[in-house]
Amino acid sequence: MSILQLEPIAALATAPGIGAIAVLRVSGEGAIEVVNRIFKGKDLSRQASHTVHFGTLRDENGGIIDEVLVTIFRGPHSFTKEDVVEISCHGSDYIIRQILQRLTREGVRLARPGEFTQRAFLNGQFDLVQAEAVADLIAADSEASHRAALTQLRGGFSKQLKALRQQLIDFVALVELELDFGEEDVEFAKREQLRSLMLDIRRVLRPLIDSFSAGNAIKNGVPTVIVGKPNAGKSTLLNALLNEEKAIVSEIPGTTRDVIEDELFIDGIRFRLIDTAGLRHTTDTIEAIGVERTQQKMRDAALIIYLFDGANIIPAELKAALADIHDSGKPYILVGNKADVTTADQRQQLEAAADESITWISARDERIDELKAALSARVRTDAAVQTGSAVVTNTRHYEHLTGTDQALARAIGGLDAGVTADWLAMDLRQALRHLGELTGEVTTDDLLDSIFSRFCIGK
Ligand code: GDP
Repeated sequence: MSILQLEPIAALATAPGIGAIAVLRVSGEGAIEVVNRIFKGKDLSRQASHTVHFGTLRDENGGIIDEVLVTIFRGPHSFTKEDVVEISCHGSDYIIRQILQRLTREGVRLARPGEFTQRAFLNGQFDLVQAEAVADLIAADSEASHRAALTQLRGGFSKQLKALRQQLIDFVALVELELDFGEEDVEFAKREQLRSLMLDIRRVLRPLIDSFSAGNAIKNGVPTVIVGKPNAGKSTLLNALLNEEKAIVSEIPGTTRDVIEDELFIDGIRFRLIDTAGLRHTTDTIEAIGVERTQQKMRDAALIIYLFDGANIIPAELKAALADIHDSGKPYILVGNKADVTTADQRQQLEAAADESITWISARDERIDELKAALSARVRTDAAVQTGSAVVTNTRHYEHLTGTDQALARAIGGLDAGVTADWLAMDLRQALRHLGELTGEVTTDDLLDSIFSRFCIGK
């Protein structure tokens, strides 16, 4: 792919506001020369790529704006594959404004949000899925969402899909060739091979599609609800979970920020405890599972913690509650509280009645490690977020993945029913279009604009 060098653009690459250092990025044709004109120090136009130089930036009258370090990247060995200069200056709004103004007077345009990444994409630095991962990486605020974004940035699932798409293109070409022969009964595309290729692609798509709901949860937090009868220990558990979180945060030196209410991180996964107001005010805890309000809460949640008082529940009652939870169709964790006053006998009976394992805790004594492990394990198995495996977190990707899958399902159905080549070609083309739009091999300007405008400026 040939590299395109567009007109130079500039923007602040670090977060706005006061800081020790700010970095401005300039990219495009002549970027190095433009900066060289306002830089006093070495002659930048004669310096090698990937070198850093100390000097001063000057205003039109020769006055010093700031002492800076400039880093030179010569295309195609840069983020955008264009010539790029990164200017590290002191992090004051005034200095940043002065430098940007000076640059614009030298013919540099201010960059639009996401424009650097868009140029990198257009120059083939990465595909669309990876470009979007850049945005996700910046926005990632938990270990798990960071990991998901990083996997995608490294090529994640798009590499594999691209290869399969290429094979499919070859088949579509053969099928379309058959169309050219009209009435004649020719078959260039081996139907059995085509069928097994389509099945292969669907096998790759399936886990990606399935990862979406969990992937989304990872990005935005897993909405989790604690339900159970009054006196089960729900508010005690809530406090135990959140207290621990507060303790962890206050141990990190220099953190003054408060814990976000009702949010909790376990193994890098964010859990949002929903509708905890009722748990805070203990007068408001009439929460038998059958109650409509509780059912509404369960509908809003992605994960249910069903808490019961292990010393004060009869097996039949637990069974009835479980039936209600099963009806909700949601993943849940069965938690027996007050393990400190529950006998081994009671536990055994309850486990037999439930016919599944129970996580035992003592909320009052803050013995809740097993519950935390269970919460983390629940999300991890659902999401397959063990390192390396790709998780789909982006709605646009999800829609194209399902679109491809559906088109392929129709094509396979058509093959089996012996439809004509033109019907087959139609479904195949649709599958190709979805796959192509997913990775950016097929794009429209509107699509690109809408994707990249969601980036922040300077990216
Ligand atoms: P809620 O109505 O479900 O919110 O229950 P609470 O959190 O208000 O707890 C009800 C009672 O159970 C309180 O007196 C708690 O101190 C007590 N309790 C909660 N957790 C435990 C526990 O792990 N062991 C024991 N022995 N008592 C507990």
